[in-house]
Amino acid sequence: MKNFKTLNEKINSHLLKEVELNDDIRQKELLIAVMQLAEERTATLTAIIESSDDAIISKNLQGIVTSWNPSAERIFGYTEEEMLGESILKLIPPDRLEEEPHILGRIRVGERVAHFETKRITKYGDLIDVSLTISPVKNPAGEIIGVSKIARNITALRRAEEKSAILAAIIESTDDAIISKDLNSIITSWNGAAERIFGYTEEEVLGQSILKLIPPDRLQEEPMILGQLKSGQRVDHFETKRMTKHGKLIDVSLTISPVKDKAGNLIGLSKIARDITYKKLEEQRKNDFIAIVSHELKTPLTSMRSYIQLALAKVREKQDAFCENVLARAEVQTRKMYLMINDFLNLSRLEEGKMSLHLSRFNLTELVDEIVGDARILAPAHVIEYQNCDEVMVDADREKIGQVINNLLSNAVKYSLSGTIINVGCEISEEKVLISIADQGFGISVADQKRLFERFYRVSNDEVKNVSGFGIGLYLVAEILRLHGGDIKVESRHGEGSVFSFALRTA
Ligand code: ADP
Repeated sequence: MKNFKTLNEKINSHLLKEVELNDDIRQKELLIAVMQLAEERTATLTAIIESSDDAIISKNLQGIVTSWNPSAERIFGYTEEEMLGESILKLIPPDRLEEEPHILGRIRVGERVAHFETKRITKYGDLIDVSLTISPVKNPAGEIIGVSKIARNITALRRAEEKSAILAAIIESTDDAIISKDLNSIITSWNGAAERIFGYTEEEVLGQSILKLIPPDRLQEEPMILGQLKSGQRVDHFETKRMTKHGKLIDVSLTISPVKDKAGNLIGLSKIARDITYKKLEEQRKNDFIAIVSHELKTPLTSMRSYIQLALAKVREKQDAFCENVLARAEVQTRKMYLMINDFLNLSRLEEGKMSLHLSRFNLTELVDEIVGDARILAPAHVIEYQNCDEVMVDADREKIGQVINNLLSNAVKYSLSGTIINVGCEISEEKVLISIADQGFGISVADQKRLFERFYRVSNDEVKNVSGFGIGLYLVAEILRLHGGDIKVESRHGEGSVFSFALRTA
């Protein structure tokens, strides 16, 4: 900026001499007024140049820098002292040096170069993106005597553009449909995968309602999802069905997130839809297989168990201790297999949405007595303690509640060491009966507790890795209790045993 001021001072001293030499008072006054105006103009221009966010640089036709504003220092790192009298080539990366003569050539013929985007190099060797506007500087006679250059740092803008180009490429190339919509469920963006999955082109759906994709019997999902998002929640892996352009129903897994403006106000939703029709088909096949196999195994197993029980009765009459022992063990093993097969059958029923309850009024204490008695036979190495309640009647599915207790008890046995105590508790309070099964086993970490009731979830630490299982027991327990309007509770700490409990309403 010094140069600019110096120039002004030069003009003023010139004018001052004129004033001193001039005898005509009116001309003197005129000259003084001109001096004041020139000073004001210089002050305004200086203020503009100094406060500008853009680098404003001037140079002569040989490319030597003649002025350098504070933003030029901020952007390029060099101070005014360092740059005045220096060649502008200092700022040009070696591979772009040919730009300078080219630009100068255009300037010499009086052209202006606007918004020329290129790269420049800072004092510290960083390459930055700049947008240049270069204009000729002319003397009063109209001759070009230099060049003024406004450089805007557009590195951040470039980065943002690059980032959004990458994001756009990801969105376009992904296999998942990515759709955004406003708060009135009007579609505002639609990627390539959305077109492949749902059959509509972008033109066909932009500005249309998302309800186009929702089957009539699921229309209530839209306000439900919106409500959840408005309360600040995200909707993750929500499995549902959607309809394609050609009326085909497909299984999709949706993840829906809120889109907010800078002030944090909800302005729309983004939706990622994954086509899981194939996965669902695979699950269906697996389910059918489990259902068929379990069903086919159950019939012969039931007969086998009856034959063993019959033989056992005969052997007892004959007082053959060896055979009696062998048959009793065989009977225990068939009982275990029976419980396992029952789990599989109920799993496939549940998956098909066909698990229904057969409610009846029965004495829960009697059922627990029976199961504890069986468990003592099935797991003789454990001490199973049981404080039984007085008679307590419940309205529930006897077989399925039996399955819940059996699963909890067999887990207590599987996940604790031989010789430890398992305590089965029964407590009646306020029209409810609470059944609890406490063990002194390995316990369960807090992280695992959150996932225990998921289908096929198994803990995988060293203590339990050799315990066999399928990860369906607790899933069934939770689902059966849910169907009864209750839930399963777990209290456990890794290494300190576990307590599983559930409550049923008394009849
Ligand atoms: P499975 O026993 O066949 O693996 P479950 O669904 O019954 O399947 O149990 C899921 C997981 O929960 C088990 O793999 C086990 O790690 C853990 N678990 C269940 N019950 C207990 C328990 N009483 N003590 C410690 N861990 C348990």
